[in-house]
Amino acid sequence: MKLETSCQSCGMPLDNPDLQGTEKDGSKSDEYCKYCYRNGAFTNPNMTLKEMTSSVITQMEKLNLDPKTIDMAVSALPNLKRWKASAVVF
Ligand SMILES: [Zn+2]
Repeated sequence: MKLETSCQSCGMPLDNPDLQGTEKDGSKSDEYCKYCYRNGAFTNPNMTLKEMTSSVITQMEKLNLDPKTIDMAVSALPNLKRWKASAVVF
């Protein structure tokens, strides 16, 4: 059964436990992937939404995904938990 969650930072589908990030105590994160979140912290805490957007585009282009799919992924980014909350942080 496929997990309906995607990473709340980059939007990657967390359909494989291997992709889930880790909390400080080593447990799996239900919200973030291992590329964004490790040991209870973001791997790149100073990343902006703009930087994440271009990183997602680059990675998806590497996978030869069609522009429509990339566009959908990018437009979903601002609604993810990490970026929705970012306005409150500073
Ligand atoms: Zn991620």
